Amino acid sequence: MLKFFNSLTRAKEDFTPHGDVVKMYSCGPTVYSYPHIGNMRAYLFMDNIRRTLKYNDYKIDGVMNITDVGHLTSDADEGEDKMLVASEREHKSPWEIAKFYTDIFMKDVKSLNVDLPEHIVPATSVIEDIIAFVQGLLDKGYAYQTSKGIYFDISKFAGYGQLGMDVNAKKAGARIEVDGEKRHPADFALWIKAPKEHIMQWSSPWGMGYPGWHIECSCIGKKYLGDYIDIHTGGVDHKTIHHENEIAQSDCLEGHKVVHFWMHLEFLQIDGGKMSKSLHNVFTLEDLQNNGFSPEDFRYFYFMAHYSKQQNFTYDSLMSAKNSLKNFKLAVQEHKKGENKLPQETINRYQEEFLEAINDDLNMPVALAVCQKLLKEPKSQDVYRLIMKFNEVLGLDFEEKEEQIPAEIKALAEQRWQAKQNKNYQEADRLRTEIEAKGYTIKDRKDGYDIIKN
Ligand code: AMP
Ligand code: ZN
Repeated sequence: MLKFFNSLTRAKEDFTPHGDVVKMYSCGPTVYSYPHIGNMRAYLFMDNIRRTLKYNDYKIDGVMNITDVGHLTSDADEGEDKMLVASEREHKSPWEIAKFYTDIFMKDVKSLNVDLPEHIVPATSVIEDIIAFVQGLLDKGYAYQTSKGIYFDISKFAGYGQLGMDVNAKKAGARIEVDGEKRHPADFALWIKAPKEHIMQWSSPWGMGYPGWHIECSCIGKKYLGDYIDIHTGGVDHKTIHHENEIAQSDCLEGHKVVHFWMHLEFLQIDGGKMSKSLHNVFTLEDLQNNGFSPEDFRYFYFMAHYSKQQNFTYDSLMSAKNSLKNFKLAVQEHKKGENKLPQETINRYQEEFLEAINDDLNMPVALAVCQKLLKEPKSQDVYRLIMKFNEVLGLDFEEKEEQIPAEIKALAEQRWQAKQNKNYQEADRLRTEIEAKGYTIKDRKDGYDIIKN
């Protein structure tokens, strides 16, 4: 039975979708700067859920938004729109900023082989729907208008704070309340009235303005998935403001619970602390690549910790992921040519163990341990086939195509093979070292050799 931890009930629960297709929503990136590897952990988490659902034969209808308007520098409606800040910083229009960073984000997630949602939707493409959503909340009495915009009235929603936000603490602990027109400090903006000089603005029944950040997710979820969403994902930082607000908006408009499983990913840490742009300690995938690590190394690194635990990033731990992945791939190549047979009951047992691990709230460290144990079996194509099946979840690339090996390396490998055949072991060893220095490993078989890219 597939089980996920549900932040709403704070319990691991059996998962069964409402209909034939799993409706899944993932909070997407705010495209105002380079995505870092912490953000990438969030999308590997989404990928992990999607592939596990597919492994369990579920079909998925998935959506992810792209925040290209409305996310203020503080998640709680204070500061400036992040897109405008970037626009001033880089002397580009917000539209150019959005395109530039969306393209980089897409390149990064593709290089990680992330199984992408069926719909990827920029907030600016649904402004009309957002206006209708806000109007619906006003009509039902859940929202009110001030001189600054339209606000959600949290006192009208008894369920506010389901994910753990302490609303009263927020009230008591709020710094000087900047907006005296709000009925409660935690009331949040659905629509913000824009001053004339504001670059991003649209006409609405309440004058020119732009949407708040939280409304885009409720609105895109409703438009693409309807009023029953099986799973909603995001990082823990979004739990107690953004997701509380999404619940308030969606449940009040529909008159019932909309999202049934809330799944939250813990943060990627650095040196035991937060990875954050303001602390200048973020790494991008490109930084990793410049240090000799592939996106796939980082993908493997993701599997080494459970998503609900903070994972500490260091280059040493990434190096250990890289080495494990390399050995994993070498072993898989050996099994591909293996001649032993694995008994059917052993095959079944491995299948069960792997399924049990992934279905236990995505326990990837255990799933990897199952693979490691399997790879230690006598060399067998049965093992190879099993790993290929498990790889539907792992999403690693085992197709080391011969053509990808440069001609120079192939020639050196052939010279080495000949030297070895001629019992010139010193020369063979020298050539092996030369090949290794160029980033390739030679693995001998009985009747030949394989060249593997490190
Ligand atoms: P943002 O672009 O800031 O809206 O973030 C995109 C996604 O990345 C959200 O789901 C965040 O919760 C997640 N996120 C941001 N920083 C980290 C981090 N250090 N580790 C894991 N996830 C993160
Ligand atoms: Zn969201």
